Amino acid sequence: MRTSFAVLLLLAPLPLAALPDQSPGVTALTHVRVIDGTGHAPVEDATVVIKGNRILAIQAGVKGIPAGAKILDLHGDTVMPGLINAHGHLALVADGQNSATAYTAENVLAELRQYESYGVTTMLSLGVNRDLLYAIRQQQRQGKLDGATVFTADRGIGVLNAAPGLPAAPDQIYRPATAAEARLDVEAMAMRHADIVKIWVDSGGGTMPAMSPEIYGAVIEEAHKHHLRVAAHVHDLVDAQSLVNDGVDVLAHSVRDKPVDQELIAAMKRRHVWDIPTFTVDESFYIYAEHPGFMQLDFFKDAVSPVLLTMWNSDAYSQKVSKDPKMAGHKADFAMDGRNLKTLYDAGVPIGFGTDSGAMPTRIPGFSEHRELEDMVHAGLTPMQAIVCATRNNAALLGIEATRGTIQPGKRADLVVLAANPLDDITNTRSIVAIFHDGRTVAPRVPVLTAR
Ligand SMILES: [Zn+2]
Repeated sequence: MRTSFAVLLLLAPLPLAALPDQSPGVTALTHVRVIDGTGHAPVEDATVVIKGNRILAIQAGVKGIPAGAKILDLHGDTVMPGLINAHGHLALVADGQNSATAYTAENVLAELRQYESYGVTTMLSLGVNRDLLYAIRQQQRQGKLDGATVFTADRGIGVLNAAPGLPAAPDQIYRPATAAEARLDVEAMAMRHADIVKIWVDSGGGTMPAMSPEIYGAVIEEAHKHHLRVAAHVHDLVDAQSLVNDGVDVLAHSVRDKPVDQELIAAMKRRHVWDIPTFTVDESFYIYAEHPGFMQLDFFKDAVSPVLLTMWNSDAYSQKVSKDPKMAGHKADFAMDGRNLKTLYDAGVPIGFGTDSGAMPTRIPGFSEHRELEDMVHAGLTPMQAIVCATRNNAALLGIEATRGTIQPGKRADLVVLAANPLDDITNTRSIVAIFHDGRTVAPRVPVLTAR
């Protein structure tokens, strides 16, 4: 049964942020390097003019500034579009652990604010959502609530006693037994105005039943009937091929068991199927036990609870991970993800950007998006290519390219200002000086204060 928004609002009292009305004022960011998200060479020493929540103009030099505009001289900083994460999750973790009771409005908002404060201005919560997310989405659209702009895959469709193996409340995921039941589940999500449909197709390396082709075929058909696209969690090449042949629109992780083959590449190109590599998923199983240098950065530490930081820095944790027989498989997955990303990118398959952050304590909203960019570059993309995947491409993947994803006149003012140039070193996306989201200024979680 369809629940009206009025009822949802009553059921889910939200801590309203009481956002001030959008200022109609004009702000000019001067002396900035503009990476506009289109992939074009950056414009050096430019001026970006923002009016209210929109970008008014981008010009080389100090020109075109309307009278009365507030001028922010940024002395050579870099401006790029706000990051868009097309595979994240919300409120699945509480007190450093996955929990079936974590999905509250307060926890959802806290994570949306965390994403936003790391320059992730838009995110798609790709399944395992409770209905209260619609009230939050609605209030954001009315300009009443802050946090990363959220899109939702509603509950999503998993398999009984199998994927996804996350603790979840009964109203957080569907696990249909038949194709007919699956069609009803899709219809219910369409009635609530989901943005996309999520399915999980994974046998866990043969340890559990994968969703049957009969069920996912029915889901894809029913979703398309409602003009909804379908994103699939996958791991294996054979499942990816079958899903693409059946009309799936997005592979929400890369194929990681085998190198992608010409058949899959040709089918993905022909059907314009998106690939979202999620390196931070594979890495999340082992990387913190290796104590990489980034763990010393405030940019990392401020995104993680002190309890987890202490645990991950302990010798006991390192020993536990190093003795886990599954780790070799996760490292192999990471390597195959990289190889397949480079192959698919070079072949011209559309590539998006995602992290699966929020799905587990080791996948960190805000931080993981910056790490994912680094991993994409490590896999062979240029910094510019990785940035375009996370901005323009993801706006197209989400169907919001008319308003977001690039710095162009008329688009929403979703901007991240960086002290250092990410084209020189992709980890410079962490040098956040300022964030604008829908024209609002947002305090960076870990602001970089440059000497001026
Ligand atoms: Zn996920």
